[in-house]
Amino acid sequence: MNGVDGNTAVVTGAGSGIGRATALRLAEEGADVVVADVVEETGTETVESIEADGGNATFVEVDVSDAESVERMVDVAVETYGGLDLAVNNAGILTGFAEVTDVTEEQWDTLMDVNLKGIWACLKAELDVMEAQGDGVVVNVASEAGLVGMGGLASYSASKHGVVGLTKTVALEYANRGIRVNAIAPGPTDTNIAENVRGGVDPSTLPFDTSTMSEVPMGRSADPEEMAGVVAFLCSADASYVTGVTIPVDGGQAAD
Ligand code: NAD
Repeated sequence: MNGVDGNTAVVTGAGSGIGRATALRLAEEGADVVVADVVEETGTETVESIEADGGNATFVEVDVSDAESVERMVDVAVETYGGLDLAVNNAGILTGFAEVTDVTEEQWDTLMDVNLKGIWACLKAELDVMEAQGDGVVVNVASEAGLVGMGGLASYSASKHGVVGLTKTVALEYANRGIRVNAIAPGPTDTNIAENVRGGVDPSTLPFDTSTMSEVPMGRSADPEEMAGVVAFLCSADASYVTGVTIPVDGGQAAD
């Protein structure tokens, strides 16, 4: 692919799943990668995998819901590698299934803080550096749940619709300043996200259809590497005229 060799990338949530696959892919393509995660152990494992393959990576502990923590993450990228060319804002959490009226204020706030405020905090810190450089690329990780409604996942779906809207708006704000901002909308992907779900009920007990998330025209879930490939394309110069879009990477769900 054309264009990430020698770049500096930051990937949030890079200790697991889509973030880890993306960090490995960008390092394989020649980028120096700041592996950012709230969990040090898994983030460090990602760095070790990259280094074992001959790539360059640095771990930084970050909580994306904390804007100061995110600023430090970007500072580490600049101090370690001299700038920030690519930012993959991927960290996110999933709530358990619940009817909207059963979502607690605390659950709502926690999810929004990580999934939506977290993307804003990352953009705020990353775009300042990119604007000073005069170029940069951002890829936000939204979800199929950011394109269509998903019964039982009101807060998650709302947060991901927010990520899609933020992506479009920020792309417009920076389109004439050399910075591209896009997103991907993954369908079901084999990662650890389901293991970390807090709360929720058995979806079959809910009085409405909850199948949207699991029905995939291609008949299978994705490997994280299939997300990383599209992120790498969006980061590359092959996507030099692409900004403000959210690409569904969903085995055909968005077409259904
Ligand atoms: P995952 O749980 O395997 O990885 C998420 C990573 O984010 C973990 O390493 C976790 O420690 C980290 N993280 C969580 N909260 C954080 C915080 N506050 N600050 C920093 N890091 C934090 O999940 P995944 O499936 O790889 O999810 C990555 C992204 O993809 C998420 O935004 C998720 O919503 C999105 N997504 C996933 C799927 C799927 O089916 N797996 C589908 C659509 C969208």
